[in-house]
Order: sequence, then structure tokens, then C-alpha cells
Amino acid sequence: MPNTPLPNTPLPNTPAPNMPAAPAGLCDPAAEATPPARLPQRLARLQLLWRFVRRYPGHLGVALLSLLVAALATLAVPRGFAYVVDKGFGANDPSAITPHFLGLFGIVVILALATALRFYCVTWIGERVIADIRAAVHRHLLTLSPQFFETNRPSEIASRLTADTTIIEQVVGTSASVALRQLLIAVGGLVFLFVTSPKHAMMLFLVIPATVVPIVVMGRRVRTLARSSQDRVAEVGAMADEALGAIRIVQAFTQEDREAGRFQSTVEQAFNAARSRFTMRAGMTAAVILLVFSAITYVLWEGARDVIAGRISGGAITAFVLWSALVAGAIGSLTEVFGDVMRAAGAAGRLSELLSADPVIEAPARPRALPVPAQGQLAFDHVSFHYPSKPDAPALNDFSLTVNPGETVAVVGPSGAGKSTLFQLIQRFYDPDAGAIRIDGVALPEADPRDVRTRLAVVPQETVIFAASAYENILYGRPDASEAEVWAAAEAANAADFLRAMPEGIHTYLGDAGVRLSGGQRQRLAIARAILRDAPILLLDEATSALDAESERLVQSALERLMAERTTLVIAHRLATVVRADRIIVMDQGRIVAQGTHQELIAQDGLYARLASLQFDAAAEAAA
Ligand code: ATP
Repeated sequence: MPNTPLPNTPLPNTPAPNMPAAPAGLCDPAAEATPPARLPQRLARLQLLWRFVRRYPGHLGVALLSLLVAALATLAVPRGFAYVVDKGFGANDPSAITPHFLGLFGIVVILALATALRFYCVTWIGERVIADIRAAVHRHLLTLSPQFFETNRPSEIASRLTADTTIIEQVVGTSASVALRQLLIAVGGLVFLFVTSPKHAMMLFLVIPATVVPIVVMGRRVRTLARSSQDRVAEVGAMADEALGAIRIVQAFTQEDREAGRFQSTVEQAFNAARSRFTMRAGMTAAVILLVFSAITYVLWEGARDVIAGRISGGAITAFVLWSALVAGAIGSLTEVFGDVMRAAGAAGRLSELLSADPVIEAPARPRALPVPAQGQLAFDHVSFHYPSKPDAPALNDFSLTVNPGETVAVVGPSGAGKSTLFQLIQRFYDPDAGAIRIDGVALPEADPRDVRTRLAVVPQETVIFAASAYENILYGRPDASEAEVWAAAEAANAADFLRAMPEGIHTYLGDAGVRLSGGQRQRLAIARAILRDAPILLLDEATSALDAESERLVQSALERLMAERTTLVIAHRLATVVRADRIIVMDQGRIVAQGTHQELIAQDGLYARLASLQFDAAAEAAA
């Protein structure tokens, strides 16, 4: 059977391996490295966001309506001021002033309410969409085969789930509405300016670029500096993480001073980067104030001369100045928002790639059910396989083996012989290039992979302990098991005693990756998990780490209970295991080179005898 084409190329725009993963809230440097696509193509990547945003038409409608009302109210404020100046201040009757002020106040109330409503709805959509995208991407990632994560580092993918989504959140939750509002204000403001005074409006056309261009240029520079300052902060975080995570090694090698020194110099770099940023920002603040006020004063000066000459009213020139400030502000922030939108397009593009990554191993349209009750027969039929990244080096070469129900087969062989590859293929993390693997007579590609995996209990060489309680870690084997069943599994795995002795018993939190357990305890927890799973076929990769005699005895007897009455394929590292196995398979370079019992193979004095004398220490010779 031909191997399915595999997406073993890394996702585009993957940062270089030595690039620190951008933490949440950072502008992903990769976003800047997006290959130069044409503007419409880049904006098309935002389609992903629309797919998620349109699920919430109610919030979207209210957001757009309040945005429109707020923009109109903003534009009405200068008009209100014009009335107040012309009618309010000019009136002789004090009671005539009041309605004008009340009118202005009314506009401000509408502005305040509409702005608050817009802020609420838009932020709600932003946060909601991000939550949905994160969940959708994570759910999809869980369906991808392990080979995807060989070419795409999990840490980088995790940073996409945080950094990229944060960029998008900013655009959906803020920038998009800012852009729309400023666009309305800029267009509306320009119309009002020309209607009020075409002459001054033309003058403004000359003045606005003179103020906006330097502000935008400086703003860009500040943003670049802010990014490098954030990168330095990320390094501070990464370095603290590294040293504190390896605190035992740091203290064991008495490297506290060196680590403190390294950290200090990174902190200083972060400070220097921050200083460049805020120095630039301070200069920019002065420039902005100077430029904006000079421009306004200039137009006001021109306007004042026209007011004196009776060419325009005082109120009109007041409204004019306010509108011009609004238009200038709107254009300035539109250019900034454009940068955000482009970054979000990059981020959305990368998340779309994750969402559309091909699972490779999928259930067939009509999966064949595995026979019930399960027999536990496992067969390899002329299986050849190479890993996608190593097309010239077959990991398995015309490999055939049948493990009968209830039989225990031990697999031994030198490093790289292909032992672990057998397990990878049985669990259907990969499909073979040729030949077939069958469980109870059903070829794996004909069945649903989830069905296949429920027939298997796996005990890996390195126990995976989740950051949860011992109880939850065992329950992972079969989440619907009762507490009594979990305890029974713990008893059978010789784990109950040490679990009871822990501060909160079986519900004690085990720490990240189970750092609070000894090697033997971790193994027994893994065995308890496999016992609870109660699958007909057991795949056991024995741990190589040496345990003390007592711990070894507890693990061994737990394993024996686990293997009893189950079809077992075991990558063996313990003498006790090979001696008790029904059959031993000796593998080399992806093939079976010998098989038999321990005594038979020792007598042959081949590869097995050599391996046994190395791996199973002096006890092997004694047994022989
Ligand atoms: P060990 O006892 O050291 O674990 P093993 O007998 O289990 O070795 P495998 O892990 O099955 O050997 O490896 C068989 C061959 O496949 C080796 O040449 C190895 O380098 C290669 N290999 C294993 N995993 C991968 C992978 N994910 N991608 C590419 N090549 C791989």
C-alpha cells in the first residue's frame, strides 16, 4: 500500500529555531517576515476572522449602530460649540443661553452612551472571536498526527495560539472599530470643513500633511523600538525560566553567581532598549504638541482676521478648528491602524494554515468495526516503512510477525533497530509504505484509528505525568472509571501504598511533569494507568533507568499483573522480562534476525547473546 503524501514541510513563516517564541502580547516578529504578498491577497487572509465574527450578528449589529451614532455625535460637537459661541455668548437674554448649552450637553450624553456601548460590543466580539479561534485551532491540532509536530515545533505552535491570537484580538476588539470610526469622522469632517469655509479648508490641506507626516514617521520609529524592547523583555522571561527551571543543576554546580550575572546583563539590555523607546516617545510628545498647536494657531490666526473683517462668524471658526483637529487625528490614527490590520492579516494567515493542516491519518469514510469480543491478535505482514524525513533509510524492512492472543513477545535489538517504530505503526501514527498491520484480522487503515487505539494500552519508556493529581493521572487510562476502579488499578500496580502516604493521598497534586515522584513511582503510576485502560493488547516499552532492588521488585510484579492474560509486545530491557517471555524477537536494521526463547538464543551465541551480556548485566550470564 503506498504511503500517503505527507505534509512534512514546516509551516511557512516559521521563525528560525533560535528565535525566542514571542510571548502573549508581543508583535510576532514572524509577522514582519511575511513574504511580500500583494495587498488584496494579504487582506484576504482576514477572511478567517469574518468566519468567526459573523457568528455573532446581534453584537455586530449593535456595535455598528453605536459606532455610527458615536461618529455622528462626535462630528456634531463642533457644530454645538458653534451655536453656543454665536447664539449663547452673543445673546443678551441669559435665559436664551440655556437651550443652546442643553443641546450641546445632549449631544455629549449621546456620544458618551454610544461610545460605551460600542466599546462593550466590539471588545466582546474581539474576546469571543479569540476564544473561539484558540479553541478551534487547539481542537484541530489534537487531530493531527505526531509527524506534524516533528516539523512544526510545539512551542512555536503554542506561541501562535497566544501571540498571533493576541494580535488579532487587538484588531477585532479595537482597531477595526477605530478604523471605521475614524474613516467616518475623517470623511464627515472634511465635508463639514468645506461647507463651512472652503478657503480655510484648502489651507488645511496644506497644513495637515505637514503635521501628520512627521507624527506618523516618529510613531513608526517608536513602535519599532517598542518591539525590540518587548523582545528584550521576552528574553528576560526566557532566561529566568531556564535558570529557575533548572534550579537543582544551578545549585549543584554552584552557578548562582554566574546565572545572576547573566540575568543582570539581560535585564540591563532590556532597560537600555526601553530607554531608547521612551526617549523617542518623549521627543515625539513634544513634536506632536508643537506641530498640532502651531497648525491650529495658524488657522485660528487666519480665521481671527476673517472674523474681524466680518467674513466668517466666531462660532463657525470655532467649529472649523475643532473639525480640523478631529480630521487630523482621524487620519493619523487611520495610518496607525493600517499597520495593525496588516499584522493581523499575517497572524490570521498563520492560524488558517494551522486550521487547514491535513491530519494525514484519518478514519475511512466507512470504518470497519473491530470484532467484539476482542481477541487481541496482532499481525505484521511484510511491513516496510521509512520515516517521511528519512526516505533513504528504511526503519522496517519486510517485517512479518504474528503475536497470538495472550502471548508475550519481547523485542530486543541494538539502538535504531526499529523497535519503537513497531509501536508507532501499531498505534497508527504512521502508515507503512508496503505490507499490512492487522488487529484481530482487520487491517488498520480500514478501521477508525480511535477504535484501534482503544484496543491498546501503552506504557512508554518515559512516563508522561500531567500537571494534575495522581488520581487524574491514572484516570487518564479510562476517564469513565469509578474511584474504586482507580484504586484497584493503583493496588495492582503496587502504587496504592505510596499514594496513600502522600499529603492529600491520591488527590495530591503531582507538580509539573510529576517532579515530586521517584522514577519507580512514576513507572508504577504509568502501569496503573494501563491496568485501568484494560485493553486486550499491551505495548510496553520498558524503562532503562536502573531502580533499586526494592523498587525493581515492585515494578516487576506490577508489570506481571499488567501482562497477565493480555497480548503483550514488550521492548525489553529487563532480564526478568525476557526470561518470562513466550518468545523473543531479535531485531536489527528493521528486520527480524533471530527468534526463540532466552535459553535458545543464548545458545546460538549470536547478536542476542552479545546484547544480553551488555544489557542484562551479569545476571544474564548467570541465568544462561
Ligand atoms: P532505541 O532502542 O534507541 O530506541 P529503536 O530500535 O527503538 O532504537 P527506532 O526508534 O524504531 O529504533 O528507530 C529506527 C530508525 O528510524 C532509526 O534509524 C531512527 O533514527 C529512525 N527514526 C526513529 N524515529 C524517527 C523519526 N521520528 N523521524 C525520522 N527517523 C526516525
